[in-house]
Amino acid sequence: MALICAICNNEKADVVCHHCGKPLCKDDKCRFSVDKDEAFSDESISAFHCNECLKKYHNQNQSLN
Ligand SMILES: [Zn+2]
Ligand SMILES: [Zn+2]
Ligand SMILES: [Zn+2]
Repeated sequence: MALICAICNNEKADVVCHHCGKPLCKDDKCRFSVDKDEAFSDESISAFHCNECLKKYHNQNQSLN
């Protein structure tokens, strides 16, 4: 079953945001290295985020064009 990007409706979303679970395509996913994310106990993993959650949970702002 294909995931549809929640941001741009691209039918090729391949990851989901690790906070809100929204599907994200390659243009909209933001990789953010998590050190102390409550959702994960592993030392350091890269999790995918939507731009919204990047700001909301990590205070990061990634400019996407
Ligand atoms: Zn997209
Ligand atoms: Zn999100
Ligand atoms: Zn996170």
